[in-house]
Amino acid sequence: MSASYPLTYYSKTMKGEQKYPFLNHTIEADVCIIGGGLAGLAIALGLLERGKKPVILEGGRIGWGASGRNGGFVMAGYAAGVADITKKVGLTNAKKLYSLTKQSQQLIRKRIDDYKIDCDPVHGYLKPSWYDVPGSMEERADFLAKNFDEPVEFWPQDKVREHAVSERYYDGIYFPDYFHMHPLNYVQGLGRVITEKGGLIFEDSMAVRVENEQATTKIIHTEHGKVKAPHIVYCGSGYFNRLETKIKRSCLPISTYVMVTDPVDEKLLKTAINTQAGIQDTRWSDDYYRILPDKRILWGGRVGLSHSAPTGDLLNVMIGDLHKVYPQLESVKPAIAWSGLMGYTVHKMPHIGKMADGVWYCTNFGGNGVGPTTAGGEVIAAAIADGDKTYELFKPFGFAYTGGMLGPLVAQAVYYSWQLGDWMREIKHKFF
Ligand SMILES: Cc1cc2nc3c(=O)[nH]c(=O)nc-3n(C[C@H](O)[C@H](O)[C@H](O)COP(=O)(O)OP(=O)(O)OC[C@H]3O[C@@H](n4cnc5c(N)ncnc54)[C@H](O)[C@@H]3O)c2cc1C
Repeated sequence: MSASYPLTYYSKTMKGEQKYPFLNHTIEADVCIIGGGLAGLAIALGLLERGKKPVILEGGRIGWGASGRNGGFVMAGYAAGVADITKKVGLTNAKKLYSLTKQSQQLIRKRIDDYKIDCDPVHGYLKPSWYDVPGSMEERADFLAKNFDEPVEFWPQDKVREHAVSERYYDGIYFPDYFHMHPLNYVQGLGRVITEKGGLIFEDSMAVRVENEQATTKIIHTEHGKVKAPHIVYCGSGYFNRLETKIKRSCLPISTYVMVTDPVDEKLLKTAINTQAGIQDTRWSDDYYRILPDKRILWGGRVGLSHSAPTGDLLNVMIGDLHKVYPQLESVKPAIAWSGLMGYTVHKMPHIGKMADGVWYCTNFGGNGVGPTTAGGEVIAAAIADGDKTYELFKPFGFAYTGGMLGPLVAQAVYYSWQLGDWMREIKHKFF
């Protein structure tokens, strides 16, 4: 049975859809990439641009996972904040890690232009603070500008509220280089370019077993076929099966949700969201949203453990969140909502690196993966094609064991501790 995309605004507005066959024979390739999300696609294109022939095995459709159903925000950095990364690896290496993602933002823009990928990129991103802590956003903006060459602008509360007309927000930071796009159309464009350049994509082709992982030629089995390759790259993220236990055990699959409204009258829209920039507040469990080309609002937010369903009816929950921030949009109705899984690590940095000769991984980007998966793609493609060692920068962010049999309990504890951080900050700044 062939897999289909989940019902989302993106699948309903997809352009240039291509379907790829399932693997039903034995093939040979330079590299076998497991998982056709943005990470797998970026590695494949990076390899083709360096003269290697990759094969992608995708269990569903390309971009069927988080990559084809996210908010579409293309940001620099990682799910872990720059302060935490700096604390762990020092400023010099933190800068190197950040700059990989700045380069990937530019590379994505270049690929959109060069390969004529029709995915509506729009520049600008505003991060308003959810907390009233005078000086803190200005300090953050200075830290980013001075140390990470990010051309940010500090916006005081008045300016923030001219663009995001809500009493929920205080000071903010504006990022002119960040942009947003239709992620599933970008995925479809990448698929087209990869196959035009000679890469192979197989959909409905879940990798179920790896034979000879330690040998020079690895054999990757799907239900009906095999790939023989000297290199294998794991990119299964929150949807990964149990193919590789170390990676599986150190991933916390976390759900998050997106809702899209009916089209909104432009005048009404401007009384609330008076900008084309994407907006995302400062909580871990944040709201992130943007205006779509047809004047609908795309509203993302909330997080849950993969095994817990959202409370109540998702459409009502999400529109309720929008109305809390913008009561002036009370008449706006929700049209469609969906969920997706993000693969998180305990340290919130992606897993990027080498496990053994010819065995690579590039996965678990958490809630900031649309841009950084291209950074990971470049790092892994350069390592395989040219012997480049940049991937070693990610060594300090290894596989943290999340509990074996106690995995779900450990995941729950980590999740609660992140959520507790939000609540503590909120209570503190409300009452003190
Ligand atoms: C609702 C939502 C909103 C988000 N919003 C944003 C945002 O606005 N900006 C941002 O930067 N990030 C966002 N994220 C996170 C971002 O989407 C992810 O970090 C990124 O897409 C991860 O890409 P990936 O390729 O690693 O994983 P995925 O896109 O999840 O791809 C993994 C793929 O691997 C396949 N797979 C798994 N196991 C196998 C196997 N054994 N064999 C074959 N195939 C396999 C799966 O079918 C899947 O297609 C969001 C995530 C969600 C869910």
